[in-house]
Amino acid sequence: MALNVLKFGGTSVANLARLEHVAQVVRQEMLNGNQVVVVVSAMAGITDQLVGYSQALCPHEPTAEHDVVASAGEQVTAGLLALALKKAGMKARSFLSWQIPIHTDSVATNARIQHISPDKLLQSLRQGEIPVVAGFQGLSTEGLITTIGRGGSDTTAVAIAVALKADRCDIYTDVDGVYTADPRLVPDARRQDTLSYSEMFEMAAAGAKVLQARSVEMAMKHSVKLRVLSSLTDSPQGTEIVADQQAVEKGNITSIVHSLQEAKVTLRNLKNQPGIAAKLYTTMGNANILIDMMTQSHTREGCCDMDGMISRGDIERFGETMNQFREGLGFSDIAIDKNVAKITVIGIGLRSNMDIPALICRTLADESINIHMIYSSEIKMSLVINQQSLQPALTGLHKVFRLAQSTQKEAA
Ligand code: ADP
Ligand code: ASP
Ligand code: MG
Repeated sequence: MALNVLKFGGTSVANLARLEHVAQVVRQEMLNGNQVVVVVSAMAGITDQLVGYSQALCPHEPTAEHDVVASAGEQVTAGLLALALKKAGMKARSFLSWQIPIHTDSVATNARIQHISPDKLLQSLRQGEIPVVAGFQGLSTEGLITTIGRGGSDTTAVAIAVALKADRCDIYTDVDGVYTADPRLVPDARRQDTLSYSEMFEMAAAGAKVLQARSVEMAMKHSVKLRVLSSLTDSPQGTEIVADQQAVEKGNITSIVHSLQEAKVTLRNLKNQPGIAAKLYTTMGNANILIDMMTQSHTREGCCDMDGMISRGDIERFGETMNQFREGLGFSDIAIDKNVAKITVIGIGLRSNMDIPALICRTLADESINIHMIYSSEIKMSLVINQQSLQPALTGLHKVFRLAQSTQKEAA
């Protein structure tokens, strides 16, 4: 008998009818002779609403109370799904993070899972129950409720699979797998049967919502068998995330990812001297603000500008934190541009083929799209453009790399 963890995201549990459908998916898994542990997200839109309430009262510092509010949606869904499973004739029990417990560090809104005690869940399974775990929540060593970052139920599911040494972790969502680009914006995007952990990680880290990046990182580290499937269709297909060496030989470029979750920030006229970047990173690290694509450019004698991308949710805190340390850093002002989109082209081809960056930039130029920032590594190239240019950029790049076709050929 296999033990499988099944995770259902917000759209999959958006209302009572969907919850009853989820109960049938779980039943089928049981009929297949498997043991099941379920992890649930909040109903679609609920976490946004809760976060909105909390931020309206206290916009600046993320606090433990913020996490008490934000984590509440998962409690409702865990209880409701346990009821739906019972209604469908199965034995079930809901678990909140503190009841298991799921131990995390104390970083409000972005805590990291440190340890999960498997005993309560194993006991529940031994009693023939289906444990229904509230995703996204944790418990800090100080006994406070934490949350583990937006989209975190994916990571809860993988962490539970690791703790229980489960045979598989299936992520049920509102698309039937991982596509070459977001299928909502690129209608001819193609579902991928398999993806390597590394490719999936790069996609998630670049902003493809379908899996939280930390869940992929954890699955890769512990070799968790991970699949992405639809809970809305009966299609058995999906995307299987496999070990890097198992990934079938693919074309040069495998996906185009976009993110509208970030803003471009510029610190103007910083002192151009040793130690400034170290101070900047330390200050942001202490405030728990992640900065991506950081670049420094010389402006005038003794001065430089620093550009970077931060999460839109961190804009206010970024401004406040930087202003606190303005003297030490010596910058003149901060510019923030929210009207940006980040587009990331992912593929091993970038490693060896210098024609690809040229082709990416030429494709955007042909659409008269101006590029504000560029970052490239061995396997990805990220470009920051105006938000209104996102659709033509995605469509153009997806087309030029022929990602709609099943075997991508060398782009001309
Ligand atoms: P859930 O609520 O189930 O966790 P999410 O909204 O977090 O679901 O993730 C699913 C969404 O991810 C899809 O609706 C889709 O719009 C988006 N997405 C972005 N990029 C991709 C991609 N490359 N393949 C599939 N889905 C993607
Ligand atoms: N409900 C949380 C969110 O909206 C966690 C999740 O859905 O994975 O971010
Ligand atoms: Mg999600």
